[in-house]
Amino acid sequence: MKLLGRNEPCWCGSGKKYKTCHFDFDNKCNLYRLGGHEVPNHAMIKTPEQIEKIRESAAINIAVLDYVAANIKAGVTTELIDQWVYDETTRRGAIPAPLNFEGFPKSVCTSVNEEVCHGIPSPDVVLKDGDIINVDVSTNYHGYYSDSSRMFCIGEVSPEKKKLVEVTKEAVMLGLEQVKPWGFIGDVGQAVHDHAKKNGYSVVREIGGHGVGLEFHEEPWVSFIAKKGTEMLMVPGMMFTIEPMINMGRADIYEDEENGWTIRTDDKSPSAQWEIQVLVTEDGHEVLAY
Ligand code: MN
Repeated sequence: MKLLGRNEPCWCGSGKKYKTCHFDFDNKCNLYRLGGHEVPNHAMIKTPEQIEKIRESAAINIAVLDYVAANIKAGVTTELIDQWVYDETTRRGAIPAPLNFEGFPKSVCTSVNEEVCHGIPSPDVVLKDGDIINVDVSTNYHGYYSDSSRMFCIGEVSPEKKKLVEVTKEAVMLGLEQVKPWGFIGDVGQAVHDHAKKNGYSVVREIGGHGVGLEFHEEPWVSFIAKKGTEMLMVPGMMFTIEPMINMGRADIYEDEENGWTIRTDDKSPSAQWEIQVLVTEDGHEVLAY
């Protein structure tokens, strides 16, 4: 990091002198660094202008998921959901971020029952009564990224699956309560996994949340098995997703060898996930996408 003079313009782009802008902030971060904590770099701290653009992207992401919510039902194929997402995103002037991302062939991830994440939409997957499905939508609007996902229960779902879906959403909200400046990403992880374990579930270890906004996936990595007081320091202007994958059975997962994407539970038990995109603010947090 380049050392700035106190009277030079602040690195954040505010136009203010460094000494009256982020000078105290940088010193505070340095104390945490010296204390052995992981501290965000300046690139992870969004400017108000960037946040405004990302909010516009997130509004589209929410609208696309609202469209899915209003239309999803038994008999719908995941291929049709992919078409909805493509159409609803592009007619708002945006691009589905997953499309062609590292070779992903579709506009959205649709993960049914024992699929943990990265399910690929297909005309062969017809939703039926009793299914649970995660629909994970990500939007690129003029180069600004948003990312959120929701669970849907199709028709009459077993009480066990319904509870898994509800507890997973509760876990996300408990994680969200921990998002505030000068806390740690691990505070979020602990709140999430405590709630999952209390209900007899397991939390996927290998996949977690991530920074988002100027790229589809940025630092920090957000683990949902991390302990309170560990992982990266949270500061105002940071942005990341809370998106735990919670399994009814064991935590172990595997990747589909044929398509190279879809993650499933080893023991074939159902898995649920909700995802929100959250901004750390001066006094707490703001949910950008859900
Ligand atoms: Mn995500």
